[in-house]
Amino acid sequence: MTQEDNLFESVKIHICKCSVELELTPNIEGILKQPMRELHVSLPVRMDDGTIKTFQGFRVQYNNARGPAKGGIRYHPGESADIIRGLAAIMTWKCALHDLPLGGAKGGIICNPKDMSKSELERLSRAYMKSMLDFIGPDIDIPAPDVYTNSEVMAWMLDEYSKITGKANFSVITGKPIGVGGSKGREEATGRGGWYAIREGAKEIGLHLDFKGSEQENIPDQKKLTVAIQGFGNVGYHAALLGKELAGCKIVAISDSRGGIYSKKGLNPRSVIEHKKETGSVLNFAGAENISNAELLELDVDILIPAALEHAITKDNARRVKAKIIAEFANGPITNEAEDILLDMGINIIPDILCNGGGVIVSYYEMVQNLNMDKWTEDEIFRRLDEKMTMCYRAVIGAAKEYNISMRKAAYTIAVSRVVKAMKYRGWV
Ligand code: GLU
Repeated sequence: MTQEDNLFESVKIHICKCSVELELTPNIEGILKQPMRELHVSLPVRMDDGTIKTFQGFRVQYNNARGPAKGGIRYHPGESADIIRGLAAIMTWKCALHDLPLGGAKGGIICNPKDMSKSELERLSRAYMKSMLDFIGPDIDIPAPDVYTNSEVMAWMLDEYSKITGKANFSVITGKPIGVGGSKGREEATGRGGWYAIREGAKEIGLHLDFKGSEQENIPDQKKLTVAIQGFGNVGYHAALLGKELAGCKIVAISDSRGGIYSKKGLNPRSVIEHKKETGSVLNFAGAENISNAELLELDVDILIPAALEHAITKDNARRVKAKIIAEFANGPITNEAEDILLDMGINIIPDILCNGGGVIVSYYEMVQNLNMDKWTEDEIFRRLDEKMTMCYRAVIGAAKEYNISMRKAAYTIAVSRVVKAMKYRGWV
């Protein structure tokens, strides 16, 4: 496997890239390039047919210098410890960049949730939480939803944790349903935060969004910015919905793991999700043309939103990308070699740790509400999220311009310096 293919290796390269400016010693770099601790578990689960199947699960706590580790849990057949390591590292920089008092973690189970019944998924989720009891906790490590997990899975895990420990401590996990300690706005938080970042990015290069609010202008259809979105899970769906209803854009293409659809006139994400619920995929949507996932990435659109898995854009397809802005709603969707090509082509990339921070930001708000036995209104959450995303965007673009570096390098430099500072205060180095 080359460095181009390996997510963890490519994340480590970002640390090396800011090492010179930050004057990182080999000792510090050594700590930053390894996860603090990780747990690998085998999870025997009784299937509906009576057989027992053993699943492999992981949790990686990458760094907790700035606070308890935080990050989602993914269910995916292609999961591996190394991908989870890379994603846990990304969470560390994401939380630090947005100045949350949290470290970074990630978990995963190798499984195919599409082939499992709901009760099998429930038993698997409970088994995972049970195996992690000493590893998880509001002041240790707080999981959340990620690829193919949702608020229902979080509720099962919360229940398992509180049953075994005898403590109804809701802040042990975030992304819960509203009725059991979940926060308003958490479901759409990654998508919404991403659009706040795009709004700032568009202003920067003179593109005009028609954002809902005071300056709304009702731009005619033919002048609306066009958007293609890869991925139609929680993040992709909200990216599409808010792209149309909040940012006033035209969503011309959407895809899921089976393929994509394109309509020059624009798609209504609410109808597309209904169609996906009925048929299992976005394909064959009335009035749209079927396209492949590869074709979607190469469409002539203003904004391209990869909102699926890591490494969707590689050195092999980067040269064919035509978008003006790529907003990374997914974690690690562009390989390092592809990024060099895209930057040379003058494409603006809003890096993942900045762009998709909305999810963990509202997770943090959820924890704050839980710990204070409080509930915030949706308006309050969106106002705070907007402020935080906007501030972060400006800090990153400011540093990128000042030092003439890419936005990713600027974002990593800010994030890594915060983590190193905490490590120094704590006497680790
Ligand atoms: N899974 C999301 C992410 O990758 C959210 C993590 C969280 O809320 O802890 O950022």
